[in-house]
Amino acid sequence: MEPFPHDRIQLPRNMIENSMFEEEPDVVDLAKEPCLHPLEPDEVEYEPRSSRLLVRGLGENEMDEDEEDYESSAKLLGMSFMNRSTGLRSNASGYSQSSDGSCSVPSLRTMVVCAVVLLIAVSVIMVIYLLPKCTFTKEGCHKKNHTMELIYPLATNGKRFPWAKNRLPSNVVPLHYDLILQPNLTTTKFAGSVQITVNVIQVTWNIILHSSGLNITKATLTSAGWNQAKPVEVLEYPVRDQIAVVAPDALLVGQNYTLSIDYSSNLSDTYYGFYKVSYKDEHAKKRWLAATQFEPLAARSAFPCFDEPAFKATFLIKIKRDEQHSTLSNMPKIVTIPVAAGIVQDEFSVSLKMSTYLVAFIVANLKNISKETNRTLVSIYAMPQKLGQVEHALDTAVKLLEFYQKYFHIEYPLQKLDLVAIPDFQAGAMENWGLITFRETTLLYDDKTSSAMDKKLVTAVIAHELAHQWFGNLVTMEWWNDLWLNEGFATFMEYIAMERTFPELQTDEEFLKLRFKTMMKDSLNASRPISSAVQSSEQIEEMFDTLSYIKGASLLLMLKKYIKHDSFQAGIENYLHNHSYGSTRSDDLWDSMNEITNGTLDVKKLMKTWILQKGFPLVTVKRKGKSLYVQQERFLRSVESENWTSDASYLWHIPLSYTTSSCSSFLCPYAYLLDQKSATIELQEEVKWVKFNVDMNGYYIVHYAEDDWNTLINLLRTDPIALSTKDRAHLINNIFSLVGIGKVSLLKAFHLLDYLEKENHTAPISQALFQLSLIYDLVEKRGMQNLAARVVDRVKKLLGSKIDQQTWTDNGTLSEREFRSTVLAFACSHHLGNCSTTATELFKEWKASNGTKSLPTDVMKTVFTAGAKTDDGWEFLLSMYTSSVSEAEKHKMLEALASTEDVRKLMWLMQTSLEGDLIRAQELSHIIATVSQSLPGHLLGWDFVKENWEKLIRKFHLGSFAIQNIVTVSTFQFSTEAHLLEVKTFFESKSEKISQLRCVKEAIETIQLNIKWMERNLAALQQWL
Ligand SMILES: [Zn+2]
Repeated sequence: MEPFPHDRIQLPRNMIENSMFEEEPDVVDLAKEPCLHPLEPDEVEYEPRSSRLLVRGLGENEMDEDEEDYESSAKLLGMSFMNRSTGLRSNASGYSQSSDGSCSVPSLRTMVVCAVVLLIAVSVIMVIYLLPKCTFTKEGCHKKNHTMELIYPLATNGKRFPWAKNRLPSNVVPLHYDLILQPNLTTTKFAGSVQITVNVIQVTWNIILHSSGLNITKATLTSAGWNQAKPVEVLEYPVRDQIAVVAPDALLVGQNYTLSIDYSSNLSDTYYGFYKVSYKDEHAKKRWLAATQFEPLAARSAFPCFDEPAFKATFLIKIKRDEQHSTLSNMPKIVTIPVAAGIVQDEFSVSLKMSTYLVAFIVANLKNISKETNRTLVSIYAMPQKLGQVEHALDTAVKLLEFYQKYFHIEYPLQKLDLVAIPDFQAGAMENWGLITFRETTLLYDDKTSSAMDKKLVTAVIAHELAHQWFGNLVTMEWWNDLWLNEGFATFMEYIAMERTFPELQTDEEFLKLRFKTMMKDSLNASRPISSAVQSSEQIEEMFDTLSYIKGASLLLMLKKYIKHDSFQAGIENYLHNHSYGSTRSDDLWDSMNEITNGTLDVKKLMKTWILQKGFPLVTVKRKGKSLYVQQERFLRSVESENWTSDASYLWHIPLSYTTSSCSSFLCPYAYLLDQKSATIELQEEVKWVKFNVDMNGYYIVHYAEDDWNTLINLLRTDPIALSTKDRAHLINNIFSLVGIGKVSLLKAFHLLDYLEKENHTAPISQALFQLSLIYDLVEKRGMQNLAARVVDRVKKLLGSKIDQQTWTDNGTLSEREFRSTVLAFACSHHLGNCSTTATELFKEWKASNGTKSLPTDVMKTVFTAGAKTDDGWEFLLSMYTSSVSEAEKHKMLEALASTEDVRKLMWLMQTSLEGDLIRAQELSHIIATVSQSLPGHLLGWDFVKENWEKLIRKFHLGSFAIQNIVTVSTFQFSTEAHLLEVKTFFESKSEKISQLRCVKEAIETIQLNIKWMERNLAALQQWL
């Protein structure tokens, strides 16, 4: 899935660990790797059990919840114990690490401490054993005999529901689904019938599977050995979206059975499941279409199924429809037969073995263009009036499909690939096998209104979704804890594919920008390891964040640079071949890589330090003569006091790269694997300067000694091109990150920026503008307008001449066009030079032509924004918005409309988008982001979120990317204690589930950090600007 449709990263957010009901998280064996600190015990949280209905009884061996409770209690106490021992480790000398990072031999004192710790451990374990096994039950402790007592929830009919875990049992597995659906676009209801062939692995009387919101009317079970289908009872437990089919006889090991269920439901009015979308056709008549979005947990709301990614099966799908509609599904259509007056049934070929979340179907009236490549028919579908905007997507999809087949040496296995623009879609796109769905802005490209950046976005999203046809669809993560295997890889491959297929788009700089933003989020204490245990639906939803996507991709980039491209490519080819049509864990990937490195490097050992630990390292470099002393610690933006030190048990295996003044070209970065706390690297000769983390291909921040910082700052001033564009952007990002943790003064960071007068490239300038905008936003929202103006003056001094040189055209290379777009947007919003005057003039001309005059696409948004400042201009823009058929243009218009300073208009925009009629609800999070960015709107955005919270979480789902984004954008500029208290109180007043959302924790931590930043830097800022 591609969750970041526009600004591909609005600093999204995460998840909560939970081990109460789950299998063991993928943890490192601490005994084997004593210096590694994979999961923080204090991060493990537990679902409160008091809310659950519990029924006691005796019975089946397939579920022993009490035993599980007991184990969980032990685990909980064990974890607390482990936590205390960790505390001892850092405070006393327990298992301390010597300065070179090796684990020291315990001293006498250590041994005494260990003995005490051991004694406590034994006591705790004894207490656990002696305690009655009643922890977490409502009733408190009862005396009972030694027979294990089972705790089951109640089904909706009051009977005992025979399963009490979030995850389905593995005693019955699905092999094949025959699914018949009949959606009615007039009543917006649908009827369904599914026959699931299952195989029994372990004898049982129940089949447990998922179903959500389905009205089940009939259920039967058949077997080869039975004379006829037998009716079965279906118990429902909606809390976990589960149903239990109670078999009339024991289901025998190795036998296949067919479960048939008839049901009905409503088409959803959210963006999830089998949902309806209204749209205007080419004659402006309101119509409906129905489409699906199943990832991660919504296939169950369209048909009863085993809705976990590892339960792969084949699917035969039939859809009954009105004659005037058409249908699409994953596989090609093979036959259409009449079934009733005006109703026909389309049947699609049997699918490959795949996960339920990849099943898709659409009932609509769309048009397409197609092209065949390598025996696959590629088609782009859109609403008829938008068919003129699909050509770029078709060419791009064909080129990329060819690229991936060559790169992976595995053919795309289906005969067709449809890419469909859905007029209302929450995510950016979704990779359903053979039927990829998109937002209109991520698939359609219009010559007259799409900018250079729009083209890049469309290309990138197609590249991402096509990569999923292998990473995700052919080989799938076993469970959502390893979502990064899908998303990190698809994101990484997206950049590889674009670099090779469309080098002119320069997407590597885009990727760099995203790495910077992801590291900001990952340096919060509320961050998580990218492979993290998840159970509840909110936790699973929260996995769709920038860590799974961008951090995942960044780690793969770092590995690729270290082991070199050919080995890396061979490794992933190996992985795809080894696990085609199967499910994997992170370890499977490293094992496949290790087959290639063949003992020269243990990829698993190296990568586990990155996958299982949250955050990333700060590497401090000290140079003396030819020696480089390097040292690592966790980079944490902490709200603690200045002399606080981060947890010393974090240790990464860091593939360091560095370049020096004696490197004759950029082809010679040196490499060094830092797998200890510190090390000394000997250079061959003395050098004038050294720069670590070349092109920021590694996922770490670097701090230098005072002299080396000064040398680098000087180098930027005297000879900036001695460093690559990415290295220059990296130094800017690096130094401001260090200001954030108090390692470098703000003054030094501003000194570094002074070289910008000589800078002509987008990456460093946009990074500088990003950093300065963060400061501007903070002081502006605190009402310090004079100080904010001085930040802008600083930019004017550095970039003024470049702003004046810009032309209002679409001329130039892509890089020049992006540069123009970035600096003019900044200049106009801060009234620099004559930017606003020119933009206003252009808007007047456009308005006078009734919107027929074509505007340069790269500055179109800036022109609209200038025009939207007057009431007249705003009204005109809104009327053009409602009639435009270009989503690229509408997107720019909407951003301009939301930039007005008129708070009544801002309120109206948010409200109208929430209603979803005139402005689609898919735009809401982006509108709230734009509104919250401005001074008049920043309190309004938060007020709107508070007032409409219940509606928001109903429409977008708790934990979804949209909700993560809304929480972030409406709070991230707050920097006062009063706002901190307000945000905290609001979420705490909702529910524990909501206050425990990772995005909420991150929002609170961000406000605390803002307060801290202001305390630390405000005086310096006032003094030096
Ligand atoms: Zn994806």
